[in-house]
Amino acid sequence: MPLEEYTAFERVEAKYEVVFIGRSNVGKSTLMRELIGLKVRVGRRPGVTLRPNYYSFGDLLVTDMPGYGYMKNVDYKKQHRIRDLIVRYFEDNAPRIITAVQVVDAKSFTEVVDRWDGRGEVPIDLELFQFLRDLNIPVIVAVNKMDNIYDREKNMVLDDIALRLGFSPPWSGWMDRLAPISAKKGDVEHLRRLLKDKLRAVGRQDLAGCFS
Ligand code: GDP
Repeated sequence: MPLEEYTAFERVEAKYEVVFIGRSNVGKSTLMRELIGLKVRVGRRPGVTLRPNYYSFGDLLVTDMPGYGYMKNVDYKKQHRIRDLIVRYFEDNAPRIITAVQVVDAKSFTEVVDRWDGRGEVPIDLELFQFLRDLNIPVIVAVNKMDNIYDREKNMVLDDIALRLGFSPPWSGWMDRLAPISAKKGDVEHLRRLLKDKLRAVGRQDLAGCFS
């Protein structure tokens, strides 16, 4: 299958941009459909495209980046190209990106990070998170699939995630950038509010309807 790739020449005009990234299968498509109400295809075979998907709302562009990291049936080389595409995309478009939403899986995030750490490698989630901070792009980490976590374990799981991101627990001290959600259950209110706050911060609450 021929691969279409983002190139520096392709540029969708917009004044502001919100970019969604995440490991494949974390529920990014489900989340975007919930947030912006578009028919984003869910459950497609991951990694078929190397292009971002764009949704345009006047001055605001909402961008869905290809899922990164390990994918069944996708070779290592292609996984690397997706990572490079994401890095290059942020470098090219940083000035207009008002926030990146990094979606992670509540249940597996800590385990995956620790496994990579144990091998002496930088986990890709943390590498990208750090990279965005270095570019001064605000990041909201959307901790998805919270419905898979028992109520009594929720705080512990979120504290563990906060710690890996370099935020001292308790996680509740970081609610401006950590949003526990369950996209599948439609429980995304906290994230919605944070996104609207970002639009308000640039004086464009008129665009908030995009996330309603
Ligand atoms: P993507 O590859 O990140 O775009 O992931 P998808 O949106 O295609 O979702 C991958 C799988 O996770 C699907 O089976 C979804 O139904 C499931 N999923 C998405 N959000 C949630 C959630 O909040 N909770 C649970 N339990 N499953 C979810």
